Parts: sequence; C-alpha cells; structure tokens
Amino acid sequence: MTKRTIYKASAIVLRSLDYGESDRIISFYTDEFGKLKGIAKGARRSKKRFPNALELFSCSNILFSKRSKEGLALIENCDVINHYPGIRSDLEKTLIASYFIDLTDQFTSESKKNLKLFQLLQDFLGIIDTGNSSEMIARLFELRLLKLKGFEPVLDRCITCKIPADEIEGKYRNKPFLFNPTDGGVKCHKCSSNNRNSIPASLGTIKILLTGKEMEISKIHRLSLSGQAADESKEILVSFIQHLLGKELRSLNVLNQIRKMGF
Ligand SMILES: [Zn+2]
Repeated sequence: MTKRTIYKASAIVLRSLDYGESDRIISFYTDEFGKLKGIAKGARRSKKRFPNALELFSCSNILFSKRSKEGLALIENCDVINHYPGIRSDLEKTLIASYFIDLTDQFTSESKKNLKLFQLLQDFLGIIDTGNSSEMIARLFELRLLKLKGFEPVLDRCITCKIPADEIEGKYRNKPFLFNPTDGGVKCHKCSSNNRNSIPASLGTIKILLTGKEMEISKIHRLSLSGQAADESKEILVSFIQHLLGKELRSLNVLNQIRKMGF
C-alpha cells in the first residue's frame, strides 16, 4: 500500500456536500494548496469530530493526508480559527459571504496556490463579520478578486484612445465613459461605436472604485456607495463577471431575490 503523506494548511470552506451514510465531501480554499477537495469521514455521524469546522466559510487550520497528488484529501483534523459568528447571525451578511465563496470557487481551479486570494477572502470575511456588509465592500471584493485573477477591468481611461477619466470631465454631461463587459473596460463616447451592451458610468462611480481598489483594508469601511454610484458600479462589475464566467451566479441571484422581499 502506498504511504499517505500528511499536510497542513489554513482553509476556508467553499462547499460542503453530504456523502454516503456518514461522510462529507468538502471543497476548501487554502493558503498553501489553493482549492482543495477532501473527504471528512464520520463528519455526519459525529458533530464533535469536526466542531464548526465544516460549515460554509468557516476558517480552520486543517491536517489532511493524501495518497497521490491528484487524489482526494482525507481530512484528519480541523482546528477552527474563525467561525464568523457575526456573519452567521445576520441574513444579509450570510448571503454576501456566500457570494464571496461562490466567486472564489468559480474563479479558481484545484491545486493552484494563490496566497493573496486566500488572504483576500479571509480579510473580507473578517470585515463583514465585525463591520458592515455594504455594497462598497461587495464591489471591492469583486474588483480585487478580478485583479488577482488577471481580469482587472480598465476604469481609469478609455481603452481605445487612452484619454484619462479626469481629462474628459464635463464632456458628455456627467457620464464620460461607457463600460462594455466584452471589452473589459471603459470607452469614451467617441470610441464606443456599439453602445448596445454598454453601461454608462459617471465620473463619481469610476473615481470611488479606483480609490477603493487600492485602499488599505483597514480603511475601506470609510468608503460608501449610494444611489447612482451603487447602481452603476454593481451593473458594471456584475455584468463583467457574468461575461467572464458565462453565467449568472446563483448566490447573487438569491441575495437579490431576498433583498427584493425586503429583509
Ligand atoms: Zn476613447
């Protein structure tokens, strides 16, 4: 029999699925191994075996073993770092955290390490756990995740003629740019020949996204989006993500539906 090697990692639960009579298959996002799929034997039979560790977006130090590089990890032990009680006790926060883990899951493949992406997810779960879960926080998570995956949208200048946002201030009333999800960036009105799928973006929206994109994590709670800027930035980023993934995300749909119901 091949010997199993033991590994350790910090891991956030992305998905959890009942398996057989007593086990669970878990998909984690880890600091050292990227996305990792593992089986937690006996997890359904005894809650004490992995207390709180296998629930969605729980963050734990895990020990696991593997027989081969490609094989399913056998989860040996979990030590919870943060169970995010602030998220779990609030429906809106739970839905946003579910959207964050869904996005992480969709944009990653197994066994590709990306420590910055792990830290991003951990940081943003921490922010909504102890602070607020504003639209701004959701947009900044999307923007930063896109950047780390190499899909950062161009927002500071027209992608064709390169005219910077602040130089065309005042032209075209207050909406100097049009964002096109297929192009992955904004264009000025002169360069944008096909406006059919484009989203008009006001300067205020662009500026706040550009500011928030680079802002230190401890300061982003100071930013807020309201009214027009909230609507525009959501439309821009959500349509771009939908274009990249080729589908609508279920978690975002659920979030929107529940908000409409007025919770
Ligand atoms: Zn242009």
